[in-house]
Amino acid sequence: MRREDWDKWLEVHAQMKTKTKAFCKCSTQFHSSPNSNVCPVCLGYPGTLPVLNEELVNFSIRMGLATNCKIRELSIFARKNYFYPDLTKGYQITQFETPICFDGFININLKDKEDKRIGITRIHMEEDAGKSIHDFHDDETLIDFNRCGVPLIEIVSEPDMNSSEEAYQYLSKIKQTLVYLEINDGNLEEGSMRCDANVSVRLKGDKNFGTRTEIKNLNSFKNVVDAIESEKKRQIDLIESGDKVYYQTMTYNAKERKTTAIRSKEEAHDYRYFPEPDLVKVRVGHEWISKIEKELPEFPEAKKIRFVKDYLISETDADELTQDKVFADFFESIARQLINKSGKSFRAVANILRVDVKRILNEKKISLEEFHVSNLIIAMIADSVSAGNISATASKEIFNLLLEGKTEEDQKNIFKKAEESLSQVSDNSEIELIVKKILDENPKEVERYKIGEKKLAGFFVGKIMQESKGRANPKIVNELLIKNLEA
Ligand code: ZN
Ligand code: MN
Repeated sequence: MRREDWDKWLEVHAQMKTKTKAFCKCSTQFHSSPNSNVCPVCLGYPGTLPVLNEELVNFSIRMGLATNCKIRELSIFARKNYFYPDLTKGYQITQFETPICFDGFININLKDKEDKRIGITRIHMEEDAGKSIHDFHDDETLIDFNRCGVPLIEIVSEPDMNSSEEAYQYLSKIKQTLVYLEINDGNLEEGSMRCDANVSVRLKGDKNFGTRTEIKNLNSFKNVVDAIESEKKRQIDLIESGDKVYYQTMTYNAKERKTTAIRSKEEAHDYRYFPEPDLVKVRVGHEWISKIEKELPEFPEAKKIRFVKDYLISETDADELTQDKVFADFFESIARQLINKSGKSFRAVANILRVDVKRILNEKKISLEEFHVSNLIIAMIADSVSAGNISATASKEIFNLLLEGKTEEDQKNIFKKAEESLSQVSDNSEIELIVKKILDENPKEVERYKIGEKKLAGFFVGKIMQESKGRANPKIVNELLIKNLEA
């Protein structure tokens, strides 16, 4: 019998977007030259004392509240002792028995299924270690201590996920929440979010979990999904062949699509946790927590409902626009600039963002922050579409032209010129002239149409649109074409 039931939980390390480190005043800037953001405290010199960054506490509470956690009013830091070359102190300051947030949950959306609740066991505060760089020299390792002491929260889930799809949706939701809260930049490539996955398998119907393994440091959603799938298969194969799963720490090799053990239980670390003697207890009262609660942003679900109600756009559009907070904010800033604040214009804006802007971002591989067409210009295009001056398809051409414009003034001029040349022709007599011309030029097709080959209508429409350089209003073209053919 194949072991098909399986469970896993995920541990996500998210870097907090504070200006300074967790226990000293050094900068957390990512692109700094190696070993420039360091001081005696984060380098672990003897005799130095850490001072807790209040912002780290605030950010942790924000995440806790957003994930329905209880907030612990009195929590302490602990020392986790282990030796590693990029951890000069010989220990990491973290939280052990008293994480600041605990016992929460999030709901994940699954395709064609009901939402599923995934429990959050705990969220605790800790510091990052430095970075060892092995790939510059064959026989030397370089160490960059800039990351030492950078504030992290570790979010540990309950073992509620039963498929890699659920793991993927869970991670997406965690990332979206972190970014909406503006406490993490969501940049996985720069390591601002890393994931450890714990995987075990068990027979269907079995109550107890099988022995788990832990896959460390997965740095993309795709690697998390692939690593879980490979590890699940590896464990099932082991058991099926009469062997057993040992508790091990694994690493995932994306090239070979394989998990391999890096540490086994015999060598497992005893971290000798004990309360950090250099830091006082963290006490957060009701007032502190409720102040943070009041400042929580509007979350995607609520935003989506409001967008449908206020802007009369479709649920699909609202859903897509609110996935990403930057996109949602951009949509609203354009909506405010519209001259004609009607459902038709709002829908035109939604359409332009979803189709034209996303296409350009994909083609140029840039983020919305790097996109340089302003909200005012997009509002002008949407107003023009909703007024029927230009067609929705003409906006594609306009965007290609706009990208040439450096300043907003340039772009305004480009837009005005383009609007003139692309303006939709809705004048009946002008369109009728073109219709007649095309019918005159194609007498054989007209004959075939008249004896029943009705699908030729499409052929004529194509010719007419071509003749009008795409400017003829398609609705009027259809009406006049039928009228002239049936005459
Ligand atoms: Zn420092
Ligand atoms: Mn950790």
